Amino acid sequence: MIVILKHNAPEEKIYAFCRELEAMGFQINDSVGSDTHILGLIGDTKALSESWLLANPIVDSCRRVSEPYKKANRKFHPDDTVVEVGGVKVGGGHFAVMAGPCSVESEAQITGVARRVQAAGASILRGGAFKPRTSPYSFQGLRAEGLELLNKAKATTGQPIVTELMDSVHIPLFLREGVDMIQIGARNMQNFELLKAVGRTDRPVLLKRGLSATLEELVMSAEYIMAAGNPNVILCERGIRTFENSMRNTLDISAVPMLKKMTHLPVIIDPSHAAGIAFMVPSLAAAAVAAGADGLMIEVHNDPAHAKSDGAQSLTPDQFDSLMATLKPEVEFFGKALN
Ligand code: PEP
Ligand code: MN
Repeated sequence: MIVILKHNAPEEKIYAFCRELEAMGFQINDSVGSDTHILGLIGDTKALSESWLLANPIVDSCRRVSEPYKKANRKFHPDDTVVEVGGVKVGGGHFAVMAGPCSVESEAQITGVARRVQAAGASILRGGAFKPRTSPYSFQGLRAEGLELLNKAKATTGQPIVTELMDSVHIPLFLREGVDMIQIGARNMQNFELLKAVGRTDRPVLLKRGLSATLEELVMSAEYIMAAGNPNVILCERGIRTFENSMRNTLDISAVPMLKKMTHLPVIIDPSHAAGIAFMVPSLAAAAVAAGADGLMIEVHNDPAHAKSDGAQSLTPDQFDSLMATLKPEVEFFGKALN
């Protein structure tokens, strides 16, 4: 249920009304916009009568909402949320590019790629240390050493780092190593205990859409993180499974405008995992900007032919340079600022 308060409703009346609603068992999501004050009532509102609410002189109108997500719902929070990742703003007109290798492989590799992607205009460095691989015999990542190497790269370029967490036992390590944003990968999008655990941290979370997840399921997973106390969630569309098999996945570009309608959270696109093939990445990145995305996550490797994971979809630093050169004017054309 959303309750829209009258313009100029006295503060003490609002305060008393909120306490009364809380005493009835509702949690209140208070959203003060430039000219509207909205209360989102979270809880079982089935028995709450609209006429009782409207009888209060400070209430302008009220509306039942059927969506099961409240904290992530744009109806309760009309303005775009801006998430800060180690000082880099994402959302609300700020467009951020996160780039780097699929996996951290060595100090020279991660530091070299970090320098190149930063020079090209990426503001956040990505790199996997704990890797979710289909086969247990494939490279599993450098794990704790990978985090140390990410930090060495960060010390060189100053870029914030984003890396995937697969198990909540590693949260203290991630916090100690100064991971700026915790990535929850597609395969863990509905690992609800993991979502609750990152929801209890103070780090922004990059939540990737599950391989066969609906948009409502994605937003419900964001709701888990937010309900545990962490409001800083960025959603990432990274391609979904369809009957089409020419690409690794199918980029669901319509996810961007739909998610923007459903939620106030920033939405980014990962064209690399969507395509699975490097040549397609620049076109999908351009489509993401045009569709209204708030950023991109792109895999870049110094030597894709010898990458330990996802070489086929990785751009070389030179290819990334040309992608960024065409992207910059496009981002501005669509009214956003590239961070
Ligand atoms: C990744 O970003 O390297 C990754 C494994 O992504 P996803 O979870 O989208 O497959
Ligand atoms: Mn990858």
